[in-house]
Order: sequence, then structure tokens, then C-alpha cells
Amino acid sequence: MLNKIDHLGIAVHSIDDSMDLYRDVFGLEFEGTEEVPDQGVRVAFFRLGESSLELLEPLDDKGPIARFLENHGEGLHHVACGTDDIEDARRRATEHDVRLLSDEPQDGAHNKLISFLHPKDTDGVLFEFTQRRSDD
Ligand code: ZN
Repeated sequence: MLNKIDHLGIAVHSIDDSMDLYRDVFGLEFEGTEEVPDQGVRVAFFRLGESSLELLEPLDDKGPIARFLENHGEGLHHVACGTDDIEDARRRATEHDVRLLSDEPQDGAHNKLISFLHPKDTDGVLFEFTQRRSDD
């Protein structure tokens, strides 16, 4: 069961350059940055009620976010849905011929398990499932 919008992922060239907008203009609480080597990104989270905004800055010029920026420029990158059971969410997707982008859930920021779906199977939107680890 998916139970909330956990966060929206926004691709940016530089978290530092984008800081003003989210912290000062929008007045959101900055929750810090974290590197996620698996995804080739540095991320920054800003709390927005029950959800957050996740800024994604590429760690190098090869990863998926670097390619996204090259092809689309900065902008909305993915929608992350929270779940208590990521394996069940993944199973439901594959049962309905929605492809997953990884064979197993991966390590995300904030000690969470994450899994992306193939956007060609989901109306062109890149969806992420995310589950808090039980030892968290
Ligand atoms: Zn995300």
C-alpha cells in the first residue's frame, strides 16, 4: 500500500545555488545534505508538511541526474511514494507489467529503501517507492 507523497525530487545543477529559493523564499526547513553514491547524487531535503522536496545535484558528469540535466535542464525529476512494504509495492507493479529499474530495492537517502519504476510504464512519470528501514 502506498500511503503518502514522501517527497518530490528536483534536479538542480547546484544545491548551493538553489538554497535561497527553498530556504529563504519558500521558508522551508532545511534538513541537510547527504551523498547517495548508489545514485551518483548529493541530495538536500527541505521539509514541506508531511512531505519534503529533495534537490538532486550530480556527483559527476556520468550518473542519471547528470544525464537528466543535460537532456532536460533543471526541473521536476521524480515523485516518491511512501510505503510500509516496498516488496509488496514492487510485486504489485511487476504483476501488472510495470517494469522496475532495479532487481532489488536500493539504498536511498535517510537510511531508506528505494525503488524506481520505468517511466515508460507509468505515464511518463518517474515514480520512486520508498520505505523507512525497520531499524530506523
Ligand atoms: Zn527521491
